Amino acid sequence: MLITEQELDTLFSWIEEYDTIIIHRHVRPDPDAIGSQLGLKVLIQNAYPNKRILAAGTSIESLTWMGKMDDLSKDDYKDALVIITDTANQERIDGAHYDEGAKLIKIDHHIVVDEYGDLQIAYPEATSASQLITEISQRSNDRLPMTDEASELLYAGIVADTGRFLYSPTPDTFEAAKVLVGQDIDTRQITDRFSETAIKEARFQGFAYENIEFHEEGVASLLITREIMEDYDISEDATNIVLNIPSNVKGMYTWVNFIEQEGDNPKYRVRLRSKGPAINHIAQAHGGGGHAMASGAKANSTEEMEEIMKELKEITTEYKANLA
Ligand code: AMP
Repeated sequence: MLITEQELDTLFSWIEEYDTIIIHRHVRPDPDAIGSQLGLKVLIQNAYPNKRILAAGTSIESLTWMGKMDDLSKDDYKDALVIITDTANQERIDGAHYDEGAKLIKIDHHIVVDEYGDLQIAYPEATSASQLITEISQRSNDRLPMTDEASELLYAGIVADTGRFLYSPTPDTFEAAKVLVGQDIDTRQITDRFSETAIKEARFQGFAYENIEFHEEGVASLLITREIMEDYDISEDATNIVLNIPSNVKGMYTWVNFIEQEGDNPKYRVRLRSKGPAINHIAQAHGGGGHAMASGAKANSTEEMEEIMKELKEITTEYKANLA
């Protein structure tokens, strides 16, 4: 268990106090962002049916199976409690006006880069934000009891952020999963959502297997241009299915996807992953951030992509030398 009693007391007293509670999460949401956001929404709404609990941010098609966002206006924020889940820095919060409520709470599991909010429940040792929301319910003394609907959302968040319990789950991860699986949920159906692909996505995986560059330094890289996405009729979100292909390739310790963004000057979204050296400092040096083993950044030119490659090769070479 990670969260302090003092943090829990403040959180529960503010949830009790405010009639409107608005929950945000980060842009480009993944299942943990939506799972923690909507999971918390369902928990509060169930415990306080007379309060207005709203979810803010844009919806993305691939995750509509998890639930929908609410329509919000500036007026909703008057005297509202605002909670942000799964978002390390304010720049990445999806939705406007988040700082116009009465109080702001951050609940996050990323490395702390931006200390925002009147209350911060920030634990990088948690493997997902959904794990933290589950702990909050578990330690609420029945003030936010778990429900089946919240369990499905939170379980999806945990499954996604741990890569189906592959990426460094801790005893606390399994403790949370135990609570959720104990509810009436269909875990098989939830995990199937992560494994099924469309035929065009299967073909796109073929492209990735052919084109990933495996460098002798132990770094793998893949450039995904707009043209490729058009050729395969693949959205940027859907490119996610090829991101972790190098994780199972012997001798590879770090890997990166450069995803071309729309616009005249090529700019690239940079998705960095590692099973060896920490890579978040490279992301931070290129306008991004994230976790030690999973980070994101931006490259404004081909030169910046090359710089990132050079930096990755350096840290990976050093890591390999220390392994020997
Ligand atoms: P992604 O590659 O988009 O799945 O991101 C991996 C991790 O890095 C997630 O935890 C993100 O929250 C974080 N991240 C991605 N892009 C950025 C960014 N531009 N700034 C800060 N953190 C980021």
